[in-house]
Amino acid sequence: MPNDVLSIVLENSFDGIYRVDRNRRIVSWNRAAETLTGYSADDVIGHCCADNILQHVDQDGQSICSGGCPLASAIATGCMGERRFFLHHKLGHRLPVMVRCAPLHDESGAIVGAIEIFRSLAAEDTRLREIERLKEVTMTDHLTGIGNRRYGDIVLSNLFENDWTRPTAIGVALVDIDNFKSVNDTYGHAVGDRLLQLVAKTLRTTLRPRDVLSRWGGEEFLAALPAISAEALDAVLERMRVLVESTWLDVEGMRLRVTISVGAVLVFANEPLETVLGRADALLYRAKEEGRNRVLVDSASVSPKISGPIPLSAQRSVPSR
Ligand code: GH3
Ligand code: MG
Ligand code: MG
Repeated sequence: MPNDVLSIVLENSFDGIYRVDRNRRIVSWNRAAETLTGYSADDVIGHCCADNILQHVDQDGQSICSGGCPLASAIATGCMGERRFFLHHKLGHRLPVMVRCAPLHDESGAIVGAIEIFRSLAAEDTRLREIERLKEVTMTDHLTGIGNRRYGDIVLSNLFENDWTRPTAIGVALVDIDNFKSVNDTYGHAVGDRLLQLVAKTLRTTLRPRDVLSRWGGEEFLAALPAISAEALDAVLERMRVLVESTWLDVEGMRLRVTISVGAVLVFANEPLETVLGRADALLYRAKEEGRNRVLVDSASVSPKISGPIPLSAQRSVPSR
């Protein structure tokens, strides 16, 4: 390619491009480099990139100019390198960039310097942050701060996707506040809301960090407890029931309490999510019929052969007191 074509490409590239000599002294600096960093060619040409004008740092904030510099590495090894960094913008802020460095050779093949091409990732970062924010907004229940039904659906589908390769059992529990309508009717919707927040917080603190809790409906929650044994599932859910029962909300000097009923199943594999949820719902219904404030767990479908210590128990009712 003729030199003038090359210089037109360099000057009109969207990527920042600069060249250094063997001592990492900057010898050329294109227009995009000026635009992206705020430094003009006059600011930087003749300076050594290790003078730290651009102050490349990694994502831990560690400067890489005096160790780990990709330009130095390209000059020393003759190899191309690519990494993600943060550059220092002339105005002071950090600019996320993808950097590619390649060695430059003379006619005899000797390394005479290197070239750095960098591309701003600021727009991509903003887009990713925006996607994260939207995800948070669309998957969070605004009253309780836990995941909403959509979030619960997605997590459950993911958990049940690899039916045949899943090595351990999963507990799926539907939790419903007892007689909640009468709380609303007696104390008002605002108090009901505060109780919902309290119950959600109590459930969350009872679950293990890897368990997933979502608000499944008005006063109903769904908990997914991956990699759990029948005994542990019983224990966690019973603790949940007891903790909710023993927690209260202060309303004008009164201690307002609620209880929960729970229908749960322990599944290993090869059962469609819909039937799992159907069975949990049927158990929840039965828990209500049997008087509320109780936990019913079915772990009968879990094969002891596959799941080791999990016993083949029939439908069990965890005593409520
Ligand atoms: P059960 O023990 O059979 O579950 O009785 P329940 O009264 O809890 O059940 P029901 O389905 O009859 O009533 C549920 C109530 O939950 C009715 C509804 O007003 C209330 N509820 C649903 N969502 C909210 C909410 O976001 N805030 C408040 N305060 N109440 C809610
Ligand atoms: Mg209810
Ligand atoms: Mg309900």
